Amino acid sequence: MADKHSKETRSYNMSRIRSKDTKPEEIVRKYLFSKGFRYRKNDSRLPGKPDVVLPKYRTVVFINGCFWHAHEGCRYFVWPQSNTAFWKAKITGTIQRDKQCHQMLTENGWKVLVVWECELKKTNRESTLCQLEKQIKGLVDENSPL
Ligand SMILES: [Zn+2]
Repeated sequence: MADKHSKETRSYNMSRIRSKDTKPEEIVRKYLFSKGFRYRKNDSRLPGKPDVVLPKYRTVVFINGCFWHAHEGCRYFVWPQSNTAFWKAKITGTIQRDKQCHQMLTENGWKVLVVWECELKKTNRESTLCQLEKQIKGLVDENSPL
């Protein structure tokens, strides 16, 4: 029971952090919708429950938080300096799971696209979304940087 309060405090803090701006996945969905794309949200039938599923293009899009998904080389990702064992286990677990899901999806013929939270900051949002649109349509290589 001792942990109950701290758990609640933690999720309260996290919801506050998340709600200070439009959620990254909402930014991506709104853009795609405005461009005429139709999609399913958080499809639990697919590995990793992709944020956006575009059946017509057999493409899924994951919108990843830089911290939770350990965006390599990103200034928004640093290993926490306290509780290091806990965070290392948690974050490496997420990295492993991401890898497995992407692999399963690819093997099933899905194109897997990842948009990082830092690529949706006001300064680079527009070019990211434009590039994403091209990747979905297959106009540019899916591995070309956003
Ligand atoms: Zn990042």
